[in-house]
Amino acid sequence: MGSHRPVPAQPALGLSAAIDKGHDAAGVVAAASGAANLVELDALVGECRACPRLVEWRERIAVDKRRSFADDTYWGRPVPGFGDPDAAIVVVGLAPAAHGANRTGRMFTGDRSGDWLFAALHRAGFANQPTSVAADDGLQLTGVRITAAVRCAPPANQPTPAERDTCAPWVDAELRLLTQVRVVVALGGFAWAASLVALGRAGVAVPRPRPRFGHGAEVPMGQRTLVGSFHPSQQNTFTGRLTEAMLDEVLGRAQILAGLGE
Ligand code: SF4
Repeated sequence: MGSHRPVPAQPALGLSAAIDKGHDAAGVVAAASGAANLVELDALVGECRACPRLVEWRERIAVDKRRSFADDTYWGRPVPGFGDPDAAIVVVGLAPAAHGANRTGRMFTGDRSGDWLFAALHRAGFANQPTSVAADDGLQLTGVRITAAVRCAPPANQPTPAERDTCAPWVDAELRLLTQVRVVVALGGFAWAASLVALGRAGVAVPRPRPRFGHGAEVPMGQRTLVGSFHPSQQNTFTGRLTEAMLDEVLGRAQILAGLGE
């Protein structure tokens, strides 16, 4: 594959102060809560340097690269959400993959998990094409936006609790600005827990005890419903724990809950 360098979002000049603040946890809170729209939010996310371990990791991966992507210019920055600004469904993953979204600059783009997810979104009618290989590949989503609980690629796909909490205000802001969202699809237990916390902070009454994650689990909460799906990781798809039919079923259910299907 050749070089597919994403076009970095360019923050408006008036956001420079907020970006400067996004270099520690308190700064993330201030910057995220001040974002007036998704374009601003995405620009701010892309400049965040609040987690030293993840900044070091994402940038080191971008220099070291995987041999098969040696000709690519890696993104090496936090990855903003991607998709329809008027989405009725938001899909929440764990974090960018080191050689997937951390390379291409777009959520779930350029790795096997994304191959699965975008093929399913295409089958469900949410994506204009079944593949997602680079930020400039023409992919468009309708009715869906994809984001992640943590925006920087973590070592071993495992953010620390502190990193998760530091990054949470970006998800909070995204849910605040996605005013049409009716369904949150959480891919995996980490995203499930993060989504419950984010919905609670958004003012939704989260049931107690906190609902347990499961594939196909549903939690109606006021105007919104949280739906769980096994993550389309290779570990799950290779072993058959998650099949195409299972993912299709969850997306079909989300479609109905969002008022987009039969
Ligand atoms: S993980 Fe989130 S809070 Fe931490 S540096 Fe990346 S974008 Fe910022």
